[in-house]
Order: sequence, then C-alpha cells, then structure tokens
Amino acid sequence: MGYPAVRLSRMRRTPHLRASLRETHVIPSRLFLPVFLDPTVSRPTPITSMPGHFRYPVHAATDLVRRAEKARLGGLLLFGRPSVKRVDGVGARDPKGVVPTFLRKHAGNTSLTLVADVCLCAYTTSGHCGVGKSGKIESAATLAALSRAAAAYAEAGADWVAPSAMADGQVAAIRKELDDRSRDEVAIMSYGLKSSSALYDPFREAEDSAPATGDRKSYQMDYSNAREGLRELEFDAEEGADVLMVKPGLTQLDLLWRARQRFSHPLAIYHVSGEYAQVKAAAEKGWLEESRVVPEIFTAFFRAGADLVFSYYALEAVEQGWI
Ligand SMILES: [Zn+2]
Repeated sequence: MGYPAVRLSRMRRTPHLRASLRETHVIPSRLFLPVFLDPTVSRPTPITSMPGHFRYPVHAATDLVRRAEKARLGGLLLFGRPSVKRVDGVGARDPKGVVPTFLRKHAGNTSLTLVADVCLCAYTTSGHCGVGKSGKIESAATLAALSRAAAAYAEAGADWVAPSAMADGQVAAIRKELDDRSRDEVAIMSYGLKSSSALYDPFREAEDSAPATGDRKSYQMDYSNAREGLRELEFDAEEGADVLMVKPGLTQLDLLWRARQRFSHPLAIYHVSGEYAQVKAAAEKGWLEESRVVPEIFTAFFRAGADLVFSYYALEAVEQGWI
C-alpha cells in the first residue's frame, strides 16, 4: 500500500510527534571532551585555530573538570606535552609529566571517565609518533616507549589508555605491560582506524606536534582504503582492545557503519580538530548556526553506529543547550 493511503509526513506533523518517534538521541554521557595539558604555560592559553579551546597548566584545568562533570559528559581525553621535547620522546612516560599529574589529582574524585591518549608525537623532537635511529621508525623501540607511557598513565589513575600512534602491535604490547603491572582493570581504547588526514592540522598547533620532516603516511591509514581499515580494527580487537575508534569522523561515516556491522565492541568516533574548526569558522562569519549544525553532526555519528563521540564541541553543546 502506498500514497495516498500511506502518508509518512502524517507522522511528522508536530514537534511532539517528531520527538516521540525520534530514532537517534544524543546524550551527554556519550560525549567525551579532548583536553590539552601543557607544562610550559602558567595560565590557560588560547589555541588560535580552535577558538574556545586552550592549553591548560594542570592547576588551571580544575574548572574545566567541574564544568564537564556538571554537564554530565562521559569523560575527558587527555593530551600532554613535555617541558622539553627529546629524540626518544621519553617525556611521554615521565610520572611527573602533565598527564600523570592531572590524573593523580582527579582520578577517583570525578564522575568522568579519564582517558589518556598514548602517543609520542608531542614528546619527540621529530614530531613523529614513533622512535628510532636516523629518521626510521623502529617497531620494537616504539612499542616499548608506548607501553611505558601507557603504564605511567595507568599507574597515575587513568581509566582507559588510548594508543593513537598506529604502530603495529601497539594494543598487544600495552595490554601485556598493563597486565604485567597488575593494571588489568585499565581498558584500552584503540585508535584502530586512524587515517592520515588534512583535518588534523589545528590539533598540531594545539600540541605543537607537526612532524619536523616528512608526514605520517607510512603508519597512518590511507583514507582511500576501507577494507584495510577494517583489518586494522580486526587486529586491534584480537589484541584485546576494549573500545575501537574511527578517526576522523564525518569523512569516514561509511567506515564507522561498516565497523558497526562487523564488531560488537563499543565504537568511538573522533570529530577532529579540523572538523571543529570548519563549523566554528563558518559560525564566526555568520554563515552557519552551530547550535543547529552540531546536533546534526552528533546525530549522524550515533545514527552511523557510534557509541561514543569525542568532540571539541562536547562541552559547549551541552552547556549551550544545543542537545
Ligand atoms: Zn602521534
């Protein structure tokens, strides 16, 4: 039976009816906010290409934590950097670094899930996500460095560690390190399907982590490849990842959907810095209303199969009542 007996618009007639029949909902507890911690600043310092975001010294990030709690967000994704970058990125594992310091201060005292990003690019002089000699990334040294960093965050109180280096075997290496240290309660969220993307550029200003030479295409995924992306997720799932992430977001909704069909794991998507900057810049020019655009984007992520959305808009969207 079709038109005129069936009229689908009949069910959209009023706001109340539309609310009753809405299939996808955006709720704060499924949103996570990335936070940049920086030991080289004494007060919150604006990130030019990400208006509304700052690099925080640990002591000045408490207000942000309280706001995120009040907004009932799911959690925070913590990024750090060292006072001095080193060839081997050793600052990433420093128990006195900004991320462990933040974790020791807030773990156990907050309703938020605290997730520590695990990578080396903000800590190495090369700006690459791995370490090695004469410009070549060495697998064993990189896995050892990532595992030690993850252990430092776990021991400081991280709920989850989130390896983002796209190093083969990183999830297995970190799981073993955590279990060897009796940190079996700490979960791993793997940035399993992380494609090389021009949309990360504002983040690199935030973290001062642009590669000094070359790019990351030899370890990040080629965004052209869907099947290879699913293999990346399969390996991470086999290695023990508890949450699988697709990154970036809007340009990879099809990959998120394919992952949803294949995996029962919780799936996360990262609405990345460049995607935030696009909407923010258009809103500043008066070309888009972010209060209407952001809920539409978040809904798309959840409709495509995400359980969790990591976004620079997470807190603003809740505080402003957009969702
Ligand atoms: Zn990295």
